[in-house]
Amino acid sequence: MPELPEVYALVADLRARLVGRTLDRFDVVSFAALKTFDPPVSALAGRTITGVSRHGKFLDLTFGAPQPDTAAPSADPPTGAATDLHLVMHLARAGWIRWREGPPPAPSGRPGHGPLAARLVLTGKTGHETGKQGHETGKSGDESGEPGNQSGTAHPSSDTGDEPGTDAGSGLNITEAGTKKSLAIYVVKDPNEVPGIARLGPDPLSEGFTLEVFSGILHAAGRAQIKGVLRNQSVIAGIGNAYSDEILHAAHMSPFKPAAMTDDETERLFDALNSTVRGAIERSDGLAASDLKREKKLGLQVHGKKGEACPVCGDTVRQVTYADSSLQYCPTCQTGGKPLADRVLSRLLK
Ligand SMILES: [Zn+2]
Repeated sequence: MPELPEVYALVADLRARLVGRTLDRFDVVSFAALKTFDPPVSALAGRTITGVSRHGKFLDLTFGAPQPDTAAPSADPPTGAATDLHLVMHLARAGWIRWREGPPPAPSGRPGHGPLAARLVLTGKTGHETGKQGHETGKSGDESGEPGNQSGTAHPSSDTGDEPGTDAGSGLNITEAGTKKSLAIYVVKDPNEVPGIARLGPDPLSEGFTLEVFSGILHAAGRAQIKGVLRNQSVIAGIGNAYSDEILHAAHMSPFKPAAMTDDETERLFDALNSTVRGAIERSDGLAASDLKREKKLGLQVHGKKGEACPVCGDTVRQVTYADSSLQYCPTCQTGGKPLADRVLSRLLK
């Protein structure tokens, strides 16, 4: 599941590839993924992508209002069409986005199977004056799996300028692995029309996310377990199961600890949250989308590392299993050496 650092890096990668480009069409392959019907997906066609941004773990592509013909500046735009549209995507647990060089393959006649949920297809032209010049639009070897391949390398025609039509059909493949499909796509006039965005808590990268704000969040959560508080999107935006494990490990804190804690503990957790999230962003900086998942795994200390040695103290990383997820922690670093009871069992003992 991509969390704040991965979506942050994805935004940077997609911004360089997409801003200034014009959409040919957006194909929805998995109709269950599309959560809105008005405006229709077809309303995006022909628009220019003017921005790529993030709301918590949601990705937001902004499509500018269709421009009136520049040769006729006095022409009135069609009423109702002169507004930005947003293509919002939540990648959920197993969703991902890949850059695709060239047009998608012809329809196979087997819709709805396989990991493809949707695809974004660009025209070959750049947009208006926002179009980038050749060197930033290079291929990244996205699907090649070559380590360390950075954007812009090995572009054979990097100084020939933009040739309209040369990469017509390139764009994004939006995929979701597994059988439980929860990837969500929305087309809206305002991102806040997406319920999951409207109820987001403060973002750890925002200026307003201060120690005081964080302390208020923890006190309001009271006896709730800190693990659940950190990953609750309506309390704090962008942190999920993986980074909440990492933050608690960095803070030397039990995942079951009640959220309302002393001032010293609050500050320790606040520092761990910031260093964990910002450290992950620094490691992801400049990576293409295809390299982000690998980088995330490499950077993790305890999450997904059950049975491995804690890189800090050498103790064995342990796990608590829930119905639909699990958490990992280091007993020596986080719980005074005591393994945590299974959550279901400990509830029975209360
Ligand atoms: Zn440890």
